[in-house]
Amino acid sequence: MSEHTTTVAGVAVDTRHWIGGERVASAGTFTDVSPVDGAVLGEIARGTAAEAAAAVAAAKAAFPAWAATPREERARLLHAVADGVERRLEELAVVETADNGALLRSHRRGVMPRVAHNFRFFADWLLRLGHEDFDTRGHTNHVSWDPAGPCVLITPWNAPLMLATWKVAPALAAGNTVVLKPAEWSPLTASLLAGIAAEAGLPAGVLNVVQGYGSEIGDALTSHPDVRRISFTGSVPTARRIAASAAANLTPLSLELGGKSPLLVFADADLDLAVDLAVEQYDNAGQVCLAATRLLVEETVAEEFTRRFVERAARLVQGDPRDEATDIGPTVHPRQLEKIDGFVRRAVAAGARTVIGGRPRDGRYYAPTLLTDVAQDAEIVQEEVFGPVLTLQTFGTEEEAVRLANDTRFGLAATVATGDPERARRVTARLVAGTVWVNCFFVRDLQAPFGGSRHSGVGREGGTWSFDFYCDVKNTVTSPKGWTSHG
Ligand code: NAD
Repeated sequence: MSEHTTTVAGVAVDTRHWIGGERVASAGTFTDVSPVDGAVLGEIARGTAAEAAAAVAAAKAAFPAWAATPREERARLLHAVADGVERRLEELAVVETADNGALLRSHRRGVMPRVAHNFRFFADWLLRLGHEDFDTRGHTNHVSWDPAGPCVLITPWNAPLMLATWKVAPALAAGNTVVLKPAEWSPLTASLLAGIAAEAGLPAGVLNVVQGYGSEIGDALTSHPDVRRISFTGSVPTARRIAASAAANLTPLSLELGGKSPLLVFADADLDLAVDLAVEQYDNAGQVCLAATRLLVEETVAEEFTRRFVERAARLVQGDPRDEATDIGPTVHPRQLEKIDGFVRRAVAAGARTVIGGRPRDGRYYAPTLLTDVAQDAEIVQEEVFGPVLTLQTFGTEEEAVRLANDTRFGLAATVATGDPERARRVTARLVAGTVWVNCFFVRDLQAPFGGSRHSGVGREGGTWSFDFYCDVKNTVTSPKGWTSHG
């Protein structure tokens, strides 16, 4: 085993970049620490502008051949990657849990099967992609989705491989080549993916993975003139910086950012269902962009809702994410724990009342927290915490519910619990959000558009929307006149 390999939960992981089909080291490294037990997982290559340039050059060199590869062959190779993910599903699951602290059972049964599905779905969608030709005064319009070029894909730590492959799969299917930069708090499964893709037969340079700390490598990637698309999932401040960096080349951007989504509970709702939906917001220790962290509950049922919520939340088991019985694992990093605690302390100092939780434990966990008596303009209501912290506010009328729901700078998602289909139609029509769920949460279909409004994002990905973003969409208009030969 080389000095560039680390063993995590029994799985060997290469700690270097993957550029042009080769493992490439950096002069510097950064230390990857597990949120599960604080163990050092490895010294990871700390990329700089030099590795960014090398990866984009590799992606550029590989682009013409990959773009010219017939769709059927691209789709076959993506299915082969999915096969590799499925074969190594257990390895990916245990490494991901060690790296970001999310539940092993979710990785095994939900997340990693979904990673494979990302590849299969976009491979199959590619083969169906098309628009019927249409006629303009005898001229034929033909719409095509042409490969665009090298894409830079930058992803966060809360669902590392799932979010990465949700971009990698459509970008590759579209005939583009990729430079993926995973988050520095969860770099490992991207390295495993590079190996799986190579084993599956993906040509060198088609998928490149670079590691590193935010802007140290990020600025060189996002300002590179040879990059044709940037897709980013992460925070609003980073998105601003990336947008500024991409501006020089007018590189098209897709931004999937944070949220402060509401869960509206009307008095006519099935209250047990509403409570289940509310408690679900603690999943992944609240480190979910879509989480409905603002509970908006109709006054007449607020007391009963709170009573049932507290009872239900008390049954949640917080602990080692590798245990089957655990519902909530650790927070990804001590810095994130501090950030969460800071939000809660400031909220309490501003007058919020802690119904449950409100404190860290063992330097790793944050107790599931519910705060009430919060003002609409309070920081805790307006800003994304990205931890297991919910607020509860009440409303008197449907009008007030919609007003409170829409009154943040975000617009990623919203959930409505109501027993009245007419109310559901009225309310959902007025909510500002990329995704709205009625009496359910987190039902995600890859063919649906996904993205945020306002500061929650720019653009939509999913199904044809992904191809619209990753491709140069072209309309070819052919006249019936002017042919000089009959081919
Ligand atoms: P972050 O913005 O700090 O980092 C995200 C990624 O950007 C990391 O890989 C990081 O290294 C990289 N980065 C940082 N500075 C960069 C720069 N100057 N240039 C290029 N890359 C740079 O976000 P995070 O803390 O890792 O993730 C949490 C955030 O992500 C939350 O706001 C959450 O809501 C959001 N998120 C959104 C979605 C969505 O689909 N809308 C999904 C998951 C997470």
